[in-house]
Amino acid sequence: MTAETVAEGVGRLADLVRSSQRIVALTGAGISVPSGIPDFRTPGEGMWEEVDPMKVANIEAFHRDTRAFWDFYRPRFDMLSDKLPNAAHLALAALERAGRLDAVITQNIDRLHRSAGTRELIEVHGSVDTSSCTTCGASWPLEQVEGLFDDEGIAVCSGCMGKVKPDVVLFGEMLPVAAIQRARELAESADLMLCVGSSLEVFPAAGLPELTLANGGSIAVLTIGPTPYDGDAHVRLHDDVAEVLPALVEALGASAEAA
Ligand SMILES: [Zn+2]
Repeated sequence: MTAETVAEGVGRLADLVRSSQRIVALTGAGISVPSGIPDFRTPGEGMWEEVDPMKVANIEAFHRDTRAFWDFYRPRFDMLSDKLPNAAHLALAALERAGRLDAVITQNIDRLHRSAGTRELIEVHGSVDTSSCTTCGASWPLEQVEGLFDDEGIAVCSGCMGKVKPDVVLFGEMLPVAAIQRARELAESADLMLCVGSSLEVFPAAGLPELTLANGGSIAVLTIGPTPYDGDAHVRLHDDVAEVLPALVEALGASAEAA
């Protein structure tokens, strides 16, 4: 196969978008890598290297050894608090404003889609945007969680002294039912799903492109590494999403339409 330029790939993607009416995006860790957030699934990368996330980011571990949980999560929160959306996040927000994108479904907990201005956002693994008391349900924005830590290094509710937990889905926890249902509905009704920066291997994201395909829709897969859907993708691009998506916005003239 002759190597395709980025512009040629973007051109094919733009044609697919133009011929589609109901478009949703499904995003994973790869879209946030250009913002300086490591993908823990990439070997040798970042703060997951020295710990097993299954053991630390686990609801049972949170209750059994809350201090160890926060020893790990506190610097991670700190790391996420000053990260900014990149050109790929901003491009998806621009597509939504231009009426080209119905919603973003994300596996990411980093809240960068919201920072970028995406309005219809489904966070299937929750978000670090807030943390809640596991006893009384009181909630705090990310910026205020640092003020809740006691001398032991545990985040404690200022009202009832209960344990405070980030509103992210930990291993061993149920996925948020309403968000999963909404994601499934969007996937089923989409005639195009843009899969961006996801290996499409982790549930529930792994099952969503299948729903779009089963209902006669198309999928575009934009990520560097391989996915189980590569053979089904109508457009398959391996280029940097922070380059591809802004180029797509430009090709569609969507930025000029943006409010
Ligand atoms: Zn409380």
